[in-house]
Amino acid sequence: MRKLATIRKIDEVRAIPDADKIVAYRVGGWWVVDAVGKYTAGDLVVYVEPDAWIPHALAPFLSKGQEPRTYEGVKGERLRTVKLRGQLSQGLLLPLNTVYELPPTTSVDIAGTDVSEPLGIIKYEPPVPAQLAGQVRGIFPTAIPKTDQERVQNLVAEIAEYADRGLTFEVTEKLEGSSCTMYLDREDSFHVCSRNFDLQEDGNVSFWKVAAQYDVAAKMRARGLQGYALQGELVGEGVQGNVYKIKAQDFFVYDVYNEIEGRYLNALERVALCEDLQLSHVPPLDTAYVLSGNVDDLLKYAEGRSVLHDTEREGVVFKCNEDPSISFKAISNRYLLRQG
Ligand code: AMP
Ligand code: MN
Repeated sequence: MRKLATIRKIDEVRAIPDADKIVAYRVGGWWVVDAVGKYTAGDLVVYVEPDAWIPHALAPFLSKGQEPRTYEGVKGERLRTVKLRGQLSQGLLLPLNTVYELPPTTSVDIAGTDVSEPLGIIKYEPPVPAQLAGQVRGIFPTAIPKTDQERVQNLVAEIAEYADRGLTFEVTEKLEGSSCTMYLDREDSFHVCSRNFDLQEDGNVSFWKVAAQYDVAAKMRARGLQGYALQGELVGEGVQGNVYKIKAQDFFVYDVYNEIEGRYLNALERVALCEDLQLSHVPPLDTAYVLSGNVDDLLKYAEGRSVLHDTEREGVVFKCNEDPSISFKAISNRYLLRQG
């Protein structure tokens, strides 16, 4: 589970040229614009990440005087990336007393504490339209990890360490679509799942249609791939605005999980399996990228054109070749601002 709201330290305060009422506060790899003098470097605050759904009472100003929106029964707003006076602003800072009635004593190390739950902050996930997913068969299979990636802005210290260790990374284009897992379980039953649910078989819904289109179940069975899950992005018509202008829908694999061995295939194995199964793989951008150790460099690298269509790409995903447990995403700020 991703921590959406955590106790963090203000690392740096930076003036914004030609602005005297607002400044930029840095928390890890994030910059947030807020009123001048509100915090000083070293202060503990609550930092709320982009994509969080914020209950209205916590930050009424986000609704800009309009009626707040509703998501999962909660009135509030979604945090978006904005630029103020040329300064990027992502996420939200809240004073510590939003969660603590009494200021905690300095002897208690509270930095890093996840306060999403007490604040009622949840992750905003774009709803998956009914014609895409249809009816739910059950919860997401417990034997398979759900798909998610940590944001590079939360990994300032780690990135420096990975660079020092000389780790190399596979880089693929991050596609803006809907997470889709095709799983042949040990009992030979084939599942098609959205990010959170196992879906009822239905030839009319997009998730199952792409599985049929590529004959995935039969191909997996023919190769004895019981216990394997193909995880990828469903893109196309009806999915996230179809930025790639794809006709109907398509599926691009980014992970293969072997549930019996409890591990992901490495990049070479994954690409080879996709070739064998005649499935598309997310566009590879590099196979052995070496980090500079600086988060801003990775954010710059994330910006660029998509391989699938002449449009800005959403970002990139880094997967470590030497240690498969290390992976993270860098979303293009240019893409985020273009959307807003
Ligand atoms: P987000 O879309 O911000 O929630 O980021 C995590 C999601 O990115 C994963 O759950 C995947 O569905 C999706 N994704 C898209 N492209 C890739 C890729 N190349 N590698 C890994 N995940 C990806
Ligand atoms: Mn996404």
